[in-house]
Amino acid sequence: MFNLILFGPPGSGKGTQSEKLIARYGLKHLSTGDLLRSEIAAQTPLGLAAKSIMDKGQLVPDEVVIEMINSALENNPSARGFLFDGFPRTTAQAEALDKLLSQKGTEIALVLALQVSKDELVARLLNRGKTSGRSDDTNEAVISSRIEEYEKKTAVVGEYYNKFSKLVKIKGEGTIDEIFDALCSEIDAKSAA
Ligand code: ADP
Repeated sequence: MFNLILFGPPGSGKGTQSEKLIARYGLKHLSTGDLLRSEIAAQTPLGLAAKSIMDKGQLVPDEVVIEMINSALENNPSARGFLFDGFPRTTAQAEALDKLLSQKGTEIALVLALQVSKDELVARLLNRGKTSGRSDDTNEAVISSRIEEYEKKTAVVGEYYNKFSKLVKIKGEGTIDEIFDALCSEIDAKSAA
């Protein structure tokens, strides 16, 4: 199995690049943001509870997203690998993911971290808000909270993987194809190793 984490702040391009990466490498895409939005659309109790937190730009509790990922792993027993997008977002989530993968006899091979300046993030998110239909993309205060949550709770997840020499930083500004090529080079180097 080849398991990859696409890491970076909100608006860094994880969703866009994930779509291209799963097409090239045949990985199963697991986005906790998408999973939560499906719960909201289906009006499940979990979705209803998550929505008010997401609309404030805060993180949903660890146990909720860890359980969603656990079920997704269980539901895809024949996947040749997973691409995690928007997860893990806290050190507790990273530790839980390591544990779940090791129970399956596998691990994270690589964490690719997209680097984008704060001004560019805000501009991209506001622009996405014009068409995404996402309520958390239209309000500048909510966007700022999301970036603050990232800096306070999520940036340390990069350091966690760096300790295991799994973190590679990628410039997340440039054309979509340039960034995609840079990501693919790292994956190809890793999977050939
Ligand atoms: P973005 O990367 O643009 O912030 P996502 O779709 O990844 O978008 O996440 C949207 C919202 O969903 C987050 O602001 C947060 O409230 C919630 N969320 C997604 N993934 C997680 C996670 N792993 N842990 C906690 N909350 C999460």
